[in-house]
Amino acid sequence: MKIFAIGQNYVEHNKELNSKHPTEPVVFMKPDTAVLRNNKPFFIPDFSEEIHYETELIIKINRIGKNISPRFSHRYYSEIGLGVDFTARDLQRRLKESGHPWETAKAFDNSAVIGNFLPAEQFPNVQDIRFSMNLNGNTVQNGHSADMIFPVDELIAHVSRFFTLKIGDILFTGTPVGVGKVSVGDRLEGFIGNDKMFDFKVK
Ligand code: ZN
Repeated sequence: MKIFAIGQNYVEHNKELNSKHPTEPVVFMKPDTAVLRNNKPFFIPDFSEEIHYETELIIKINRIGKNISPRFSHRYYSEIGLGVDFTARDLQRRLKESGHPWETAKAFDNSAVIGNFLPAEQFPNVQDIRFSMNLNGNTVQNGHSADMIFPVDELIAHVSRFFTLKIGDILFTGTPVGVGKVSVGDRLEGFIGNDKMFDFKVK
């Protein structure tokens, strides 16, 4: 399986990182070795002093597709979940400054937390989903998919121009404002509405 991720897809998050607003989706990928499932703990890697959480709605692809038209994108997924795009922010900053690719800051082992999924039919409108993340019991991210710069169906269409989508591929749709650093001992709990989607610790 492949993991696609979208950067800079929420206006207020771009402000907090001083990023420009993209004119087309910012796409990057993570390998399957990045996956962390089943609420297993996340171990802070030794190459970063500043690992950030980014809580994101995730879409599970359920059909093979290429050059998908946005109006048909909804046929390519039937489950929506919540994940964390862990990012080595210090490393990413250095790579950005020198104009280099992001991979080591974004695609390292266990950097893609994949929580539970809910049936897409539970959501009448994919652009009207509220989600949140509690860090040690305090809500630090409160997202609403209406605030995405590029909506889910456009993201799927865009990614599929370049890459064939396959069953089981995952799309991370970008993080809302409120990203921050994790420390050893932290507990991260993610929610879509009132449904708990993940609950794990940082070690
Ligand atoms: Zn992200």
